[in-house]
Amino acid sequence: MDEEQLLFTLFSIVSIAFGGVIGSFINVCAYRLPEGRSVISPGSRCPKCASPIAWYDNIPVISWVLLRAKCRECGEWISWRYPLVEAITAGLGFLVFWRFGISVATPVYIILAASLVLVTIVDLTDWIIPNEVTLPGIPLSIGVALLAMWFPDSGIRVLGHFLPVFNALIGVIVGGASLYLLDKISLLLLKKRGMGMGDVKLLAMLGGFFGYPGVLMVVMVASVIGSIVGVIMITVAKKAPTVAPSETDDEDDEDMVALSGHYLPFGPYLCLGGLVVMFFGADIYDYYMAMVDLGM
Ligand SMILES: [Zn+2]
Repeated sequence: MDEEQLLFTLFSIVSIAFGGVIGSFINVCAYRLPEGRSVISPGSRCPKCASPIAWYDNIPVISWVLLRAKCRECGEWISWRYPLVEAITAGLGFLVFWRFGISVATPVYIILAASLVLVTIVDLTDWIIPNEVTLPGIPLSIGVALLAMWFPDSGIRVLGHFLPVFNALIGVIVGGASLYLLDKISLLLLKKRGMGMGDVKLLAMLGGFFGYPGVLMVVMVASVIGSIVGVIMITVAKKAPTVAPSETDDEDDEDMVALSGHYLPFGPYLCLGGLVVMFFGADIYDYYMAMVDLGM
């Protein structure tokens, strides 16, 4: 094994472990944020017997396997959801390293990817997009653009290009304003909500990370995936996931897009769109530009 392979192996393991540890924290957040509880203290406890979980019983994926999915104290089953989330973020950790290499961009994008996993889980389970992610996420996205400006070798590139801070700010405004206006137009013309404020803040955050026109690519990818999944769900299952409308009247709670009378959460698709742009934005952009050059 030469030096290059050794570094690749070493940093792959570090990225996978980093992703897994963040996944473990995301499990805590996904469980506590919708209940408005602190994600810092108290430490992780068994939901049944409330005994604190020791660090050696809290190693991502590995502990769940070693404990055979049971609490060490009371034997209560531990849901497969926890190791699944940890495995997903660990896998994303590796993919980010594989894509961005040894650079400042890698830890930044591992955290962003894990945050999008958290938003997806909470939106699917509790029909809300946590402000705890999107509100700090907007200034952080501008901070990342500043970081890239100060450190040109950071590897932070959007659609394969350097992202100026001004461009990130335009992304926040375009991302937030487009969904906000869509919601107002929907209210005016269709007399129903088009978008929840959670989606507005989420796309503003993604706009900050991917700039303009990156934010438009996020919406485009999200819409394509959302339409395909929506049509499949409606034709196969004959219905989309049901949700009681009375529970979603609150402005911050409602984030569904109407599709032929069926309601689907749009947040997960925006998150997926963000991940696709993060990994493949440059390729999609180059492909598009090549098509335009060919006059197609
Ligand atoms: Zn227990």
